[in-house]
This record gives sequence, C-alpha cells and structure tokens, in this order.
Amino acid sequence: MIPTQVDLGSDTATRPGPEMRRAMCEAEVGDEQRREDPTVRRLEEMAAERVGQEASVFLPSASMANEIAYKVHTRPGDEIIIDRWAHPANFEGGGPAALCGATLHHLDTPRGIFTPEQVERAIRPDDPHYSRTRLVSIEQTTNVGGGSVWELARMQAVVEVARRHLLRAHLDGARLFNAAVASGLPASRYGGMFDSVTICFSKGLGAPVGAVVAGTEDFCREARRMKHLFGGAMRQAGILAAACIYGLEHHVDRLKEDHENAAELARGLHEIPGLKLDPEDVQTNMVYLRTDGLGLKPGEFVERLLAHGVRMNAYPYQRVRAVTHLDVGRDGIRKAIEAAREVAAEALGATAKSRT
Ligand SMILES: *Cc1c(COP(=O)(O)O)cnc(C)c1O
Repeated sequence: MIPTQVDLGSDTATRPGPEMRRAMCEAEVGDEQRREDPTVRRLEEMAAERVGQEASVFLPSASMANEIAYKVHTRPGDEIIIDRWAHPANFEGGGPAALCGATLHHLDTPRGIFTPEQVERAIRPDDPHYSRTRLVSIEQTTNVGGGSVWELARMQAVVEVARRHLLRAHLDGARLFNAAVASGLPASRYGGMFDSVTICFSKGLGAPVGAVVAGTEDFCREARRMKHLFGGAMRQAGILAAACIYGLEHHVDRLKEDHENAAELARGLHEIPGLKLDPEDVQTNMVYLRTDGLGLKPGEFVERLLAHGVRMNAYPYQRVRAVTHLDVGRDGIRKAIEAAREVAAEALGATAKSRT
C-alpha cells in the first residue's frame, strides 16, 4: 500500500504548520479552569465577537460544544428539531440521548436545509402526552447535505418560527466560516440570531484541537458548569487556544482557495465517464459523487483510490465524499482527478470484459 499523498477524507486532516506551531510554543498560559489562562480568554472573546455573541467557552471539540449547548437548553424528555443527517443526530455517539436525555425530531431535507413550515409542523402541542419541543438545531454549512450554505433569509425564517413558539435555537457552525466566505456575509450575521453557536477550529481553520460554544454571558456560565461535568475543563490550554487564534487570524479568508479547489475537483471528476455528480452542487469545500455508474460500491471505489495514494470517504446515501482543505493544493487536486480517472477506467474496462 502506498502512503496517502492526497488526503481528501476530511478537512480535519490538516496539520499545524510552522507559524501556527510557533504561536503555540510562545503562548502565554495559566490555569484555564480558574479562568486564568490569558490566551484562552483572548480566544473566547475573539470567537464570541466573530459569531455575534456576548461570550464563548473554549472546549476540546465541536461535538462537546453541541452537546453542552443541548444540555444547557433542554431537560430530559425534551425534543430537539433537527435535520435527519445532522452531526449531533449521527456522529456524536448518541450524545443527545446519552448526555441530555433529549429526543430528536428528525426532519427530512434535500440538502440539510429545512423550511419554516417543516419546523412549524414538527412542534408538539402543549399536552403531557408529548415530549416538550424545546430547541431547533441548524447546521451551517451542512455536512451530509453537501457543504451547502443556508441562505440568511431561510435561516431567519426558521429562527423566527422558533422564537414565536418560545423555542431555543442552536447553530452548529462547525464550518460557519466556510459559509461566511462563500456567501460574503460576516459569520456574525448568521451567528447573532441564535441562543448558542458552535464553531470548530480543527476543520478548515487548521488547528490541531479546539472548538467554542458561544452565547450570552448567562448561557456561558451554565455552559462552563457543563464543561466541568463533561470533563472538558483543562489547565494550561492556552497552548491549544493559540493555534485557534492563529487559525482565526490567518486561515479564514483563505477558505476561498479550498472552495475553488473543490470546484476544480468537481469539474474534473464530472468529466470522468461513470462518475455522477453535479458541479453546480458544490458551494463550499465538499464534493459528493456517486460511483454506481462504475459498478462500484462507494467503499470499493474509496479502497481502490487509496491504492493510488488518494483518500476520499464513503458517506450516507451511497455516496463518496471529498473535502478540500489547507493541506491540499492544486497539484493534489490534479492528482486526485487523475487517480479517479484510472480507477474508473479500470472498473469500466472490467465491466466491459465481463460482458463479452
Ligand atoms: C466535525 C463536526 C462536528 C464535531 O466536531 P469535532 O470537533 O470533531 O467534535 C460538529 N458538527 C459538524 C457539522 C461537523 O462537521
């Protein structure tokens, strides 16, 4: 097996570069559990401001950020309205149930983006037979939804329904800055309308570790309690926060390169016979494709591609996902397209031979 040369498996694959490492090395630190780490505090202030909130809490992961937000907003038995394929509903180990005792009300959506009418219909009547609808949770950008961007007006309309019914609203903005860069709107335009906002620094922003959950001062006071409860309170975490600050300062605007690379990848893959995708669907740094035209299951395609040194991942709905990031440049994109072309040609050749 040749080593992976182009890792499009996820934007979590980024490694901290020399400048980021230097920032980590030189970070001023203290005991962050006692709120004495100046670098963590600076990050918390910066992040809150960027997403249009009063304050934020530094955490080891965006999963923990989402779960802490849910824990603060809900009581056991409460219901959360969420897209069926959203991260907390699939990739957080059953956290909403295990950690919060919350049940999920799944909405089926085309690209992870639901309508105000869907939310309206999902809200339970005030009747002891039902769980109490408590929270609407939105993902921006949508991951399984293809890296799609919620338009501001749609998001406002959904949050407006939540407000009218006295529900809370949470934004899982693990990739909020991708949405901001793609739409040209500041992240605060999206983040400011929510009761809590998660952001992740270990995706496109390139930090090795780190996330925040942002909200009002009151929300953050409760979130800090939950951070202790979940075992997420750290000590000299400024070393990690310094990488996140570096990411916020240097790696936000450059996300547009990732988006251009994803578009380039989509155009290249689209030309390969047997691969199915619509380059128009690519709004940020994700490309989803179908491989059934090659007679290959997503897992088989991924395995063969890996033998060429290129990693992609198999994803729900029989698709393959490729994600662009900081550590993949134009050369990597060309290599990935070339590898996919070879895998496709081999597969189609084999199918043609088996027919004769
Ligand atoms: C990756 C991701 C998370 C969780 O991030 P971790 O830091 O890996 O826990 C949450 N939500 C979305 C949409 C994600 O893509």
